[in-house]
Amino acid sequence: MFCPKCGKEIEDDAAICIHCGRSLETKKEDKPEYRESKAGIGVVMGLFLGLIGLIIGLCLYPAETNARKTFIKGWGITFGVCAAVGIILFIIIYVVALSTITPYI
Ligand SMILES: [Zn+2]
Repeated sequence: MFCPKCGKEIEDDAAICIHCGRSLETKKEDKPEYRESKAGIGVVMGLFLGLIGLIIGLCLYPAETNARKTFIKGWGITFGVCAAVGIILFIIIYVVALSTITPYI
C-alpha cells in the first residue's frame, strides 16, 4: 500500500511509515464503531442501574401490607434515583464518547 501522508510505497502491515515516520494507526476506520460501542455501554449501564433500582425496591418490599404506602414511596424514590443516575451516566458517557473521538480531524 501507499502512505496516505507522503504517498510513498510502504509495507501493507506497516504501523509507521518508513519514509515520513508518521503513525498509520489513526487511519484505521474502526473508530466510529468504537464510539458506538461506548454509547452502547452507556445504555447498558443505564438499564443495569435501573434494574438494580428495581431489585432494591423489591427487596425493600415490606412484609406487613399496612406499610404499603411506605413501600410505594420508598420504591419510587429508590428506583427514581437509580434511573436518574443511570440516565446521567448514559449522557456523560455518550458525550465523552462523542467529544474524545473525532476520527476525521
Ligand atoms: Zn509516509
